[in-house]
Amino acid sequence: MTHVTFVLRYEEVRVTTVADTLVLDSVRTFVSTDKRLLIGGEWVAAASGRTFPTYDPATGERITEVAHGDATDIDRAVAAARRAFEGPWSRFTPSQRQSLLWKVGDALLARAEEFGQLESIDNGKSAAIAQAVDVVWSANVFHYYAGWATKIEGRTITPSVPWLPGSEWHAYTLREPVGVCGQIVPWNFPLLMATWKIAPALATGNTVVLKPAEQTPLTALLLGEIFCELGFPAGVVNIVTGFGDAGAALAAHDDVDKIAFTGSTEVGKKIVGAARGNLKKVSLELGGKSPNIVFADADLESAIAGSANAWLFNHGQCCVAGTRLFVEDSIFEEFTQGVAEFASQVKVGPGLDPTSQLGPLVSQEQLDRVTGYLDQGRADGARALTGGRRIGDTGYYVEPTVLVDVRDDMSVVREEIFGPVVAALPFSAADGPVADANNSEFGLAAGIWTRDISRAHRLAKQLKAGSVWINSYNAFDAAIPFGGYKQSGWGRELGEAALDLYTQTKAINVQL
Ligand code: NAP
Ligand code: MG
Repeated sequence: MTHVTFVLRYEEVRVTTVADTLVLDSVRTFVSTDKRLLIGGEWVAAASGRTFPTYDPATGERITEVAHGDATDIDRAVAAARRAFEGPWSRFTPSQRQSLLWKVGDALLARAEEFGQLESIDNGKSAAIAQAVDVVWSANVFHYYAGWATKIEGRTITPSVPWLPGSEWHAYTLREPVGVCGQIVPWNFPLLMATWKIAPALATGNTVVLKPAEQTPLTALLLGEIFCELGFPAGVVNIVTGFGDAGAALAAHDDVDKIAFTGSTEVGKKIVGAARGNLKKVSLELGGKSPNIVFADADLESAIAGSANAWLFNHGQCCVAGTRLFVEDSIFEEFTQGVAEFASQVKVGPGLDPTSQLGPLVSQEQLDRVTGYLDQGRADGARALTGGRRIGDTGYYVEPTVLVDVRDDMSVVREEIFGPVVAALPFSAADGPVADANNSEFGLAAGIWTRDISRAHRLAKQLKAGSVWINSYNAFDAAIPFGGYKQSGWGRELGEAALDLYTQTKAINVQL
């Protein structure tokens, strides 16, 4: 590989303002009114009458007011979900559920630009990327689980019952819905995370109370309009916007049968505690600090682009972000410079600007958190090959940052930063840095770049991670199970695996 000269280009990054005319009329209309809660098929104010603002991370300006739901509203939503579960939804046939879910996928595709823009305004991410990735993928998830609705099957079993000689038996299993599912989602992929949870829950016949993140409630509410328009019975999907206390009330609620959570490991542990009261089923998708391992024999051009995107995609606000970059020592310098060069050329700007590749972080809180880690890294002796600071003073923009001269005990190497920051570490072991890569409380994902296929498969088995990508990163599909080892979570979403989260098995034993 030719040596790549490293150029610092941040002085050139221009944070442009976006022409107002870019915003669709439908998006304008949607945000022109205060947003309400969806409970029992009605759009209602919070019982307290309170609202809270949601902000555009590109400007810090208020977009609209959203109902501030609390424990009282969670109570109302759970009651509505219970009525729908015991009532009309239980009478829907699998093929009726299939056809409704398929229509949700179609509606998302038909309104992809609108959803993409709304996601961009609320979260900061590029509208073009949101449309092409978040929305298309969300539609794909609904289409995928539509297919499963008609394929949920039990088994027939022939029991022996040896202590009842001469008896004859027939047994079979049913896979039944769990019931009322509480679902709590984060702000990094607001629509997509809601979709990953709602689609398998409905395919299997459950009802839902969704609590979106306070920073990004809007696309879930737009999705709620689709459920109403398509004629889902009232109460099948309920949406309560609000803060952590609403999530806590949902996790603790005695009439909720299952809680599914995506977010920080810290809150994940609180969910486990809250679920104790009625021992509701719990599934968790939590944090990560994923290793991405590059051998000297890799296709370096694709490894550089892939390794940069591993931690840059969605501004590093990905639970799977490949933020510990292990590079074989013989190529460490040229490879990390290549990644730094790639990162420094990424166009940072407002999400509505079609040329932006990277937008602002989601909030002032995240900006403070990420720049706090950068300050700590500097104080600990880490050196930035590129980046390291905030960009400008409007919006929450951070420079893509490649850190070298890092040690295993630094917070920038151990903790989830959730920003566009990678820590690069050299390794020399012929078969890869297995022990170092596994030296983390997390175990969500990992990447391996090499042309040696045997080595790649051997290493993939040794890594303690729920997803391993070989010669790629961030490759997802609705059909592939996803979830974490160690403190990265409980259970697997997506694929057939998610059906296990949303069904329970009943064994029926018949003496003939
Ligand atoms: P978070 O607090 O874990 O938020 C995730 C969701 O949980 C939000 O809907 C949140 O509501 C809700 N929540 C908060 N406290 C709760 C409680 N006690 N009981 C039930 N639900 C509760 O995440 P964050 O504060 O937004 O972000 C902090 C850090 O978490 C990030 O910097 C990142 O490291 C990590 N994170 C990870 C993921 C992931 O996909 N693994 C996603 C987001 C964040 P509110 O929005 O009202 O707080
Ligand atoms: Mg929080």
